[in-house]
Amino acid sequence: MSYFPPTIAQTSDFPIGIEVSHAEGIYLYDSTGKKYIDLISGIGVNNLGHRHPAIISAINQQLEKYLHTMVFGEFLQEPQIKLAKRLSELLPENLGCTFFVNSGSEAVEGAIKLAKRFTGRTEIIAFNKSYHGSTHGALSVMGNEEFKQNYRPLLPDVKFIEFNEEVALETISDSTACVIIEPIQGEGGVKVADKKYLKRLREICNKFRVLLIFDEVQCGMGRTGTLWAFEQFGVTPDILLLAKAFGGGLPLGAFISSQEIMSVLKNNPILGHITTFGGNPLSCVAGYAILETLNSSDILSVIPKKEKLFRKLLSHKNILEIRGKGLMLAVELGNADKAFSVIQKSMNAGLITDWFLHCPTALRISPPLTISEPEIELACSIINKVLDEC
Ligand code: PMP
Repeated sequence: MSYFPPTIAQTSDFPIGIEVSHAEGIYLYDSTGKKYIDLISGIGVNNLGHRHPAIISAINQQLEKYLHTMVFGEFLQEPQIKLAKRLSELLPENLGCTFFVNSGSEAVEGAIKLAKRFTGRTEIIAFNKSYHGSTHGALSVMGNEEFKQNYRPLLPDVKFIEFNEEVALETISDSTACVIIEPIQGEGGVKVADKKYLKRLREICNKFRVLLIFDEVQCGMGRTGTLWAFEQFGVTPDILLLAKAFGGGLPLGAFISSQEIMSVLKNNPILGHITTFGGNPLSCVAGYAILETLNSSDILSVIPKKEKLFRKLLSHKNILEIRGKGLMLAVELGNADKAFSVIQKSMNAGLITDWFLHCPTALRISPPLTISEPEIELACSIINKVLDEC
């Protein structure tokens, strides 16, 4: 492991510290030539693995044409137009209008502003143990006081309720602008919403004309076995948030809604939400490539089989529970020290896993969706061996 130079800002006193040399498929190589299985895909980003040929080729072709030309929303840029059109074909009718941004946090910021503008209300309902990003607005809807307390004041009028608890939905009223929820809480430790619960949430939002925002920054783009996580629940949001894997390894995010809702951002005042780099052409061609690859291959259809294999092979006595859907899994060990030790030892053994921000007792399993069955077997044998030693 190498150490960061002091000229680079630190986010903790214990960074993973792998010095990356190159990456290919599910593998990452460090500067000493050591090979690692990347079982977290750069935290849910590299859904097609590292350097997928479709993405590399799309980027190379766009490189020959143009990079940044103008802020989002002014010039007609083919990569944005093609990607937005494809999204509208692959999403329900009420999600036909895409606002491109650069990251998950920015998608959250845009969505919250949009909901406030469209409804004329200010109250936002979010969930305990949620994670939506680190900017002030996104932090305001994060359901973990520890990460917020030293950054107050944050956005006013945010209420937190318990995830998956139906009675708590009574907090929603005709004062509420929006409810923001991850259908599968990522940093909460991969907690899957109950189908019935999400349906009830949808009904209540409809009753009070509250906008329902699904944050699929982590669980979207095929991670659960369907292109969109909401397909697993049969519930459609009013605003969908994408980022992470959306840009195929380049920075890209989006908040997606109907043309009617989105139109409020363009007047009173004009330019209600603007971004310089949102919808960067290089990111958009990469986004189109990942979308098309997921759609035109058997990658999604074999995910349930791969999930089953992980669950079957990880049946170690030290594992209390495996939560999740598709290739978004949490291996619960019930003890943060134990989880930390397994992460360290796995790293030494050539496998990258991680913990969750609001759930340090579990291991993160979110490999490239392209991981093969022999690669899953290899990864699980490493984890089981490490668990034997703990
Ligand atoms: N929403 C969710 C569900 C996330 O997992 C994350 C990032 N972990 C974000 C939003 C924020 O995304 P970004 O880091 O790109 O701002």
